[in-house]
Amino acid sequence: MAQTPPARLMDGRDLARRIVDTSSATAADLRRRTGTAPCLATVLVGDDPASATYVRMKRNRCEQAGIRSRHVALPASTTTDELVGTIAALSRDPEVHGILLQHPVGAHIDERAAFEAITPEKDVDGVTMRSFAAMGFGLPGFVSCTPGGILRLLDEYRVDLAGKHAVVVGRSPILGRPAGLLLLGRDATVTYCHSRTTGLSAITREADVLVAAVGRPRLITGADIKPGAVVVDAGYHPGNIGDVDFASARERASLITPVPGGVGPMTIAVLLAQTVEAATRQLGAD
Ligand code: NAP
Repeated sequence: MAQTPPARLMDGRDLARRIVDTSSATAADLRRRTGTAPCLATVLVGDDPASATYVRMKRNRCEQAGIRSRHVALPASTTTDELVGTIAALSRDPEVHGILLQHPVGAHIDERAAFEAITPEKDVDGVTMRSFAAMGFGLPGFVSCTPGGILRLLDEYRVDLAGKHAVVVGRSPILGRPAGLLLLGRDATVTYCHSRTTGLSAITREADVLVAAVGRPRLITGADIKPGAVVVDAGYHPGNIGDVDFASARERASLITPVPGGVGPMTIAVLLAQTVEAATRQLGAD
């Protein structure tokens, strides 16, 4: 039997670099024309080390791209009302163009209420109900950053989505659910799988495009993949492990994202691009 060659890699690092370079040039131009640099406000509640690292990475990237950031660190004891009040104030502040509330915020806080305090014009992380509805209806708006990054990667590698069966494993509000909506918006036939799905492997083996957004290390293996499928691994676990078992999946797929260097860098790139876009509009420079 003829051997299928191992899958080509979808290089998120390279594409993310190009997106950040473009955002950086636009930010510099905006500053020249208006005297104001784009500004992203980051809000972190509590002292979870992983969340602190994510926020630090995002702020560093902003700085490298000529985007200012304003950090608001709140104690773990912050109440919903206090958090909503802080975010509402950032929503009104004309010097802030984008707002990022780092998830998770702590079980005692109504996270949805906090997200909804972000005015849609500054929702550069695509987390509000209005942004979600816009994604669902295919209307203009800010997209969730990781799903938006996944779509950009698929476009970069000219993956034709129309009429293809896309299977998304995971339905979280920030990742699986919006990823499925964006794929549907591109005329893919979308199936969602989740923790209550029965016969997961039989479904994933039907996928022309498989998005793993499940948060379980190496849950998807080569045996779960249709030969020639496009595989996007959004998962990240310590030790550079994804939700897909890369070695076996690469033998079956035609295109695959590595971990790291696939979806991860795209998330921040989309965040920066959307922050610059938000600033451009708010400064009336579009
Ligand atoms: P999450 O909120 O925990 O959601 C996981 C989803 O997977 C849920 O919908 C859950 O189903 C489903 N699931 C769990 N176990 C399953 C199983 N055995 N079979 C089928 N479905 C199952 O996670 P998330 O925030 O979406 O993140 C998912 C992964 O992406 C994680 O590895 C995370 O680290 C990574 N991530 C990466 C980025 C990035 O920038 N690259 C950004 C965000 C997240 P139920 O809905 O039924 O519970």
